[in-house]
Amino acid sequence: MRSESSLTTLKGVGPALARKLEKLGLFRVEDLLFLLPLRYEDRTQLVKIGALVAGTRCLVTGEVLLAETVYRGRRNLLVRISDGSGQLTLRFFHFSRQQQAQFQVGTNVSCFGEVRRGAKNFEMIHPEYRILRENQGAATNDSLTPIYPATEGVQQGRLRNLTDQALRAMQETPPAELLPKNITRDMGMPSLAEAIRYLHRPPADANVEQMLQGRHPCQQRLAFEELLAHYLSLRSLRALAETEDALALTGGGPEVSRFISDLPFKLTRAQDRVIDEIISDLEKPHPMMRLIQGDVGSGKTVVAAIACLKAIACGLQAAIMAPTEILAEQHWRNFSAWFAALDIEPAWLSGSQRTVARRTSLQAIADGSAPLVVGTHALFQEGVEFHRLALVVIDEQHRFGVHQRVALRDKGVTPQGHPHQLVMTATPIPRTLAMAAYADLDTSVIDELPPGRQPVLTIAVPDTRRGEIVERVRSACASGQQAYWVCPLIEESEVLDYQAAEASYQMLTEALPDLRVGLVHGRMRPAEKERGMRAFKEGLIQLLVATTVIEVGVDVPNASLMIIENAERMGLSQLHQLRGRVGRGATQSHCVLLYKPPLGRIAKERLAVLRDTNDGFIVAQRDLELRGPGELLGARQTGLPDYRVANLVRDAELMPQVQIAAETIRKRSEETAAAIVRRWLGDAGRYGKV
Ligand code: ADP
Ligand code: MG
Repeated sequence: MRSESSLTTLKGVGPALARKLEKLGLFRVEDLLFLLPLRYEDRTQLVKIGALVAGTRCLVTGEVLLAETVYRGRRNLLVRISDGSGQLTLRFFHFSRQQQAQFQVGTNVSCFGEVRRGAKNFEMIHPEYRILRENQGAATNDSLTPIYPATEGVQQGRLRNLTDQALRAMQETPPAELLPKNITRDMGMPSLAEAIRYLHRPPADANVEQMLQGRHPCQQRLAFEELLAHYLSLRSLRALAETEDALALTGGGPEVSRFISDLPFKLTRAQDRVIDEIISDLEKPHPMMRLIQGDVGSGKTVVAAIACLKAIACGLQAAIMAPTEILAEQHWRNFSAWFAALDIEPAWLSGSQRTVARRTSLQAIADGSAPLVVGTHALFQEGVEFHRLALVVIDEQHRFGVHQRVALRDKGVTPQGHPHQLVMTATPIPRTLAMAAYADLDTSVIDELPPGRQPVLTIAVPDTRRGEIVERVRSACASGQQAYWVCPLIEESEVLDYQAAEASYQMLTEALPDLRVGLVHGRMRPAEKERGMRAFKEGLIQLLVATTVIEVGVDVPNASLMIIENAERMGLSQLHQLRGRVGRGATQSHCVLLYKPPLGRIAKERLAVLRDTNDGFIVAQRDLELRGPGELLGARQTGLPDYRVANLVRDAELMPQVQIAAETIRKRSEETAAAIVRRWLGDAGRYGKV
């Protein structure tokens, strides 16, 4: 048997089991080696009952003192055992008569399970147990017992048996060592085979604490290779783009210059620099793949507009996609205003559009009479045919995620070649993490805000002081300012979101009868939302009660006060985004984070981060440390690649080394690079094809 053989060559694996294993992504014997345990149990030592600690999982033996069934609502079988150092109760809710009969007084049993505090002494509920014959001791193991990821219908014992066989096969044909020797040596990493064996069958003296944290050198060895696989895959996408054709947008210089000089403001130096980077990309005959990172309010939209203008001035089409209708609508308005003098009216495309309007848009997009299209992800659904699409702009890309981004790239292809791509995000992420997540992109950073912006002053206040805050809203609005009141986000439930917003709206209209109060929430029809937002923008509404639908991009400079309810439930980056809705005008702005006391330590720390800084990069770094990368990169919606061993927060520090290794390997052998990608990402081997 060899490691690359099919799983059915293993003893005990028939077609039915093979199908179940396929669901875990296991096809070949070697795949089993990379199915790593989630945790370990220690059955290497017998623990004295007198020395048990609640919450641990232990192996004990003892003599049965008493076995009885009692009724506590349901039937319980209680078995009291003792090993001389103390007594332990085994409790069973499901048991057969035979089982009951096994526990004769005086019988010796060994059992393994979680120790819990019971009424009188420690208990184990439904432990694994064995009746011991006379003079037979409990069987201890030589190595820690691995616990594998559960799959329906495949028991742990079976997985242990299969990995045993795979480990044996590994002795004959070890998995190819794909990392360059100098790197494993310099980093002091164990060999691949060594690492695999250790992780599947750790010796009794292994540092379990370190292993559970994923920081053992053997885990780091595998995490390194896994990060490398993802990185290589993204880099090969990047390299592919350099071989692909795109329309070189060499014209449009005069139009762009005129546009910039006609703007009502002067571009910041950071905007100028990023625009130069984009223009130089667009003039090349290969697709641009560029990410703009810039804090909330740094002025990304106008940069995107300039890129679009260049494409349009070359007689081609540009499309801009936003994650929500409100944001897309706002872009549509901005672009309409900016481009009015040039006689360019953007076409509109969204999911909720009426059929007739949609048909008109589709027609204009297909025959090229619409040079610019603004919309939501409806832009890239079936039935949308572009005439000559040269540029795709994706705003707030963190809402879309890696897979969607790559899939979009494939969709935009036209007979003229690949469109240029510009993705923008207001969620800046730390450099090492960006290396892992955006390795297929070139990055530009707008690290400067337009002049005159004052940092938003932020305070955290318990919601027991809601009355004071309502007063504060009254006086701000009385002096001509406007305010947002953002309602609690209720996970995955638009209905509850809406009810909470409705309740706050009632409370506020009653408490503030003199104010014009509006309500915008996610369940409204786009036209209604639009009406509410517009009324707020025009100052007809003074206080806007809203759910987090206003999170991204909405621009109302006269709004200078924001109240966020249940702030303790939201992500830091999200709060930072919300807060970015104020501080856009000349007046000093304030943000009040209302929380429900008492706050835990982490929650306190999180709110303190927002109080102490207005810098999106610092917020993002702290968010990452406190919550993990999923929130930051939009994994919730789209699924970041599932890492098997690596953890982007814990292991991001490996990225600089990963990058060096990747360059070495790609220079030396494309084949090795491909083999690493295949090993970790499967035959699909790239993000776009999953
Ligand atoms: P974001 O980067 O968050 O998307 P926007 O593009 O919405 O920011 O810009 C925020 C506001 O700043 C808009 O009203 C925009 O017109 C304005 N703005 C952009 N660039 C400048 C600038 N250089 N000077 C002054 N205002 C600017
Ligand atoms: Mg924006």
